[in-house]
Amino acid sequence: VRPDVIVVGAGFGGLLVACEVARRGGRPLVLEAGPAVGGVAATVHDGDYLLEPAAGSFLLPHPHLTPILESARARVVPAEATAHRRYVYDRGGLFEIAGPAAIATRLVSGRGKLRLLREPWVRTRPTSADESLRGFLERRLGPEGGRMGATLMAHGVFAGDPDKLSARAAFPAMVALDDDAGSLIRGGLARRRARPKDAPRAGLHIAPNGMAGLAAELAASLGDDLRLEWPVDSVRRDGDEWVVGGRGEERSPAVVVALAPAEAARVVPGPLAPLLNEARAAPVAVVGLGGHAADLPVPSGVGALTGPDGG
Ligand SMILES: Cc1cc2nc3c(=O)[nH]c(=O)nc-3n(C[C@H](O)[C@H](O)[C@H](O)COP(=O)(O)OP(=O)(O)OC[C@H]3O[C@@H](n4cnc5c(N)ncnc54)[C@H](O)[C@@H]3O)c2cc1C
Repeated sequence: VRPDVIVVGAGFGGLLVACEVARRGGRPLVLEAGPAVGGVAATVHDGDYLLEPAAGSFLLPHPHLTPILESARARVVPAEATAHRRYVYDRGGLFEIAGPAAIATRLVSGRGKLRLLREPWVRTRPTSADESLRGFLERRLGPEGGRMGATLMAHGVFAGDPDKLSARAAFPAMVALDDDAGSLIRGGLARRRARPKDAPRAGLHIAPNGMAGLAAELAASLGDDLRLEWPVDSVRRDGDEWVVGGRGEERSPAVVVALAPAEAARVVPGPLAPLLNEARAAPVAVVGLGGHAADLPVPSGVGALTGPDGG
């Protein structure tokens, strides 16, 4: 049977697209170059330690993710309470930034905090049609809180540069608060009021066997609609069909290329490739440290982000 959608790549992007197609009653066909699924989220097991080299947790319930995980019967469990503790390394010290400790944090000066609290009454206009993340947050939160917030968001989510990331492209929901209400705080409160009272709050979840285990469960739910060691080398249009070439040829009315931009540039048709090649990937090194909690020189929690003056 001809697939409804061919998905190139079985990282989490490709797997979730394919599971959603199947959930809606369509037939996906996933073509993966490697011998295993999961892509960069390849959990490392070393003795009793489990290291996630990429995404390791997610917020649930989620309007799109929850139905996919449920229909694929993938197992997820709430993360431990300590996973909600977060820290920032800045000016030579660790500052806790999540939970009640955030209010008392000395990461931002008293003056900086006062400016943050004035945000709902500060009237500003965008300085350009596509403000940088830092420009946007400094305009809304003041120079100190804005610089700190932009640095942490850029480092934490994109391993990126707050001066180069577009606020609107990187954090569209946040910019929409300002568009709608003229203030992040007022917009956030309005959104909270609009939420149904009984709507469950999203909480951090993990997969009991790591992300690789979760990827294997999603793959199992796809059965024969997933092929490993099937590297795709071309995607081209032929009439009203897409033709995907590699270890043979597959055809379908739709194709999703779920690869990193540089890899996608090698397989997609001509005009798209130069655009994809312009995308910059952050240079990320992942280092795993393990030990007994009592011996570690850091408090327990999900990790530490580096602040603007963290070196
Ligand atoms: C340290 C770190 C922390 C992160 N933390 C988070 C987080 O907290 N939350 C979050 O949402 N995200 C996080 N991410 C990002 C997230 O892990 C990735 O965005 C996501 O796993 C990428 O999935 P993908 O499917 O897009 O790509 P990939 O994982 O790169 O998968 C692409 C797949 O395509 C295959 N492939 C390549 N070329 C071909 C070809 N020619 N033909 C067929 N198959 C091919 C590859 O073998 C691979 O399996 C983090 C990333 C890192 C590095």
